[in-house]
Amino acid sequence: MATLYIVATPIGNLDDITFRAVEVLKSVDLILCEDTRTTRVLLSRYEISQPVMSYHAQSSLSKIDDVIALLHEGKNIALVSDAGTPAISDPGSLLIAQVREKLGDKVMISPIPGPSALISALSVSGLTGGSFCFYGFLPHKKGRETIFKTIAESSMISAFYESPHRIKKTLDSLVEHIPERKVIIARELTKMFEQVISGTPSELVDYFKTHPDKVRGEFVVLVEGH
Ligand code: SAM
Repeated sequence: MATLYIVATPIGNLDDITFRAVEVLKSVDLILCEDTRTTRVLLSRYEISQPVMSYHAQSSLSKIDDVIALLHEGKNIALVSDAGTPAISDPGSLLIAQVREKLGDKVMISPIPGPSALISALSVSGLTGGSFCFYGFLPHKKGRETIFKTIAESSMISAFYESPHRIKKTLDSLVEHIPERKVIIARELTKMFEQVISGTPSELVDYFKTHPDKVRGEFVVLVEGH
């Protein structure tokens, strides 16, 4: 039976890959990746020379059909994203749903677990409570205010991904909606300038005003529940 492997890859430090992920990537007939140049850096580090094909958010439905046809022929395929776990705020869900629907139990869909920025950030946050709600990337316009209201009312940890371009705007909204709540920002995890900062939203606004050099890289934002 053919297998579609969903393979997690590092979120910064290239050492953060499992033995099994390397084994699987070396064994498959094809590796689907978002940006072939990004993935080739990882593959060459581990001397993996399997063929790659791009599969990203803008890929056409016919590409999914091509992948389904290959699985149907018995080819084993791995899906990776640029970083972290595929299908978590990354492409993959549609492909996986279509493979499941069209091939059913003729194909295995198997996770090769590993890094995810979300879980890495939660693991170092020190936030307690156990349950959390993950919003992925917040919408830029429609629905954005509703999410801040939901976060304000939630007793769960709220988690989302943010870009350096929008972090200030997001913190301003948090100042407005939850001025007293503790917020943790996990930045550049596993990379050279890794940083975890915590404070109220206005303390974090002040921090980034006085440290403009820190408004870069990749961010996970966690808000404690009330
Ligand atoms: N699927 C990935 C995962 O499981 O981590 C997430 C992909 S999403 C397109 C990319 C976002 O994840 C970034 O914009 C940032 O918010 C977050 N992220 C990725 N790597 C990170 C890192 N090393 N440190 C902090 N946040 C990171």
